[in-house]
Amino acid sequence: MDFDLSNDQLDVQKLCREFADAEIAPHAEEWDAKAEFPLDVVKKMGSLGLLGLPFPERYGGAGADTVSYALAVMEIGRADASVGVTMAAHVSLGASPLFMFGSEEQKQRFLVPLAQGQRLWAFGLTEAQAGSDAGATKTTADLKNGSWTVNGTKCFITNAGTPITAGVTITAVTGRGENGRTEISNIIVPQDTPGYSRAKPYKKMGWRASDTRELLFQNAQVPEDHLLGPRGKGFRQFLDTLDGGRISIGALSVGLAQACYDAAARYAKERHQFGQAIAKFQAVQFQLVDMAVEIDLARTAVLKAAWLKDKGRDFAQAAAIAKLYSGELSRRCANAAVQIHGGYGFMDEYPVSRYWRDCKINEIGEGTNEVQRMVIARQLGF
Ligand SMILES: Cc1cc2nc3c(=O)[nH]c(=O)nc-3n(C[C@H](O)[C@H](O)[C@H](O)COP(=O)(O)OP(=O)(O)OC[C@H]3O[C@@H](n4cnc5c(N)ncnc54)[C@H](O)[C@@H]3O)c2cc1C
Repeated sequence: MDFDLSNDQLDVQKLCREFADAEIAPHAEEWDAKAEFPLDVVKKMGSLGLLGLPFPERYGGAGADTVSYALAVMEIGRADASVGVTMAAHVSLGASPLFMFGSEEQKQRFLVPLAQGQRLWAFGLTEAQAGSDAGATKTTADLKNGSWTVNGTKCFITNAGTPITAGVTITAVTGRGENGRTEISNIIVPQDTPGYSRAKPYKKMGWRASDTRELLFQNAQVPEDHLLGPRGKGFRQFLDTLDGGRISIGALSVGLAQACYDAAARYAKERHQFGQAIAKFQAVQFQLVDMAVEIDLARTAVLKAAWLKDKGRDFAQAAAIAKLYSGELSRRCANAAVQIHGGYGFMDEYPVSRYWRDCKINEIGEGTNEVQRMVIARQLGF
C-alpha cells in the first residue's frame, strides 16, 4: 500500500491551504455574522480552477483526481465550512451529474462554464415530504409538444440562488411504469426558465454564508432535450450522485474537525489556570489526543473512498463509512473544542462557537447518520 500523496495532489493541497489561510479564514466570521454569500472569493476559486477540479480539461476542468478534490475540500472547509459546502455542492451535486449522465451537447452547453468556474449549479432532490425518502418526490414534469411542464416545490437547495447560479438539475415524476411505480427522471432547469423562481435564503444555524433556498416550479417550461440521461433513470442517477457527494461531505467534516483541533490546541497552550497552561492537564491532553486520533482515521477513510473512486472501483460503502464517521467526528471535535475554551468558547468572538454551529449539518445533509447506517447495512447484506 502507498499512503504517499503524489506531487500533483500535494500541489493542490498546498494551493488550497495557502488560499484558504489568506483569502477565506480572515473573513469567515464576518460572512457568518452577516449571513453573506462571499461572491468575490467564490469567483476567485473559480479562476483558480477549484470549481472544476475533478473534471477533464476538455470540459473546462482542471483534470485532477478525486483524492486531490477531497484534499481541496478539506483545506477550504477548514477555513470556512460555508465556502467549503459551496464548492462541494457545486462540484459533487451540481456539475457531476451533468458530467456523468449528460449528452456531449449538454456537457458543452452546461458543464463547461461550471467547470471553468464562471457559474454555479445546484441539485434539487429534497422536498418537504421527500427527504430521506427522496424517491417519494411529488414534483412532476409532463412532456407535451416538445416541452416539459414542471410543477412542484423543492426545499433546502444549496447554491440555487447566488448571483452566478446558472441553474439546477431536479428530480421529477415523469410518468408511471408498467408496474404502477412512479417513473423519476432528472431535468436540467436553467435559471431563467419561465415559471421557475427561488424563495429568499433560509435563516440557518450554520453554513450561514452558503446559499440555501426553496425552489418553486409553477408550470415551468423546459425544452424536451433538457432531460438528463435516459427517461426513468433519475432514481439510480441521484443515488450515484449522492455516493460521490458523500466523499465531499466527509472531506468537509474532516476540514472542520481539523479547524476545531487547531483552535483547541492553540488555546490550550495559551490559557493558564492553576498557574500553568491548561494543555498541561492530562484531562485536556486526552481530549486533544482523541481529536487527533479520530481526525487521522477519518482523513484516511475519506481518502480511501476517493482513491477507490479514482480506480473505478465500487466506492459506495467506503463513501458512506467515510461520511458517517467524519460527520459524527466533526460534532465530537466541535464539542471538545468548545469545552477546552470554557466560557470563551460560548462567545461569538471565538471561532469554535461557529464550528459548533457548523458541524451539526454534517450529520444531516447528503443522507443523515441513520441513512448512512441503512446504506452500510445493505452493503453488509442485511
Ligand atoms: C443546509 C442544508 C443544505 C442542503 N442542501 C441540499 C441540496 O443542495 N440538495 C438537496 O436535494 N437537498 C439538500 N438538503 C436536504 C438534506 O439532504 C435533507 O435535509 C436530508 O436528506 C434529510 O431529509 P429531511 O430533512 O427531510 O429529514 P427526514 O428525512 O424527515 O428525517 C428526519 C429524521 O428521521 C430519520 N429517518 C428518516 N427515515 C428514516 C429511516 N428509514 N430509518 C431511520 N431513521 C429515519 C432521519 O435520519 C432524521 O433523523 C440540504 C439540507 C440542509 C439543512
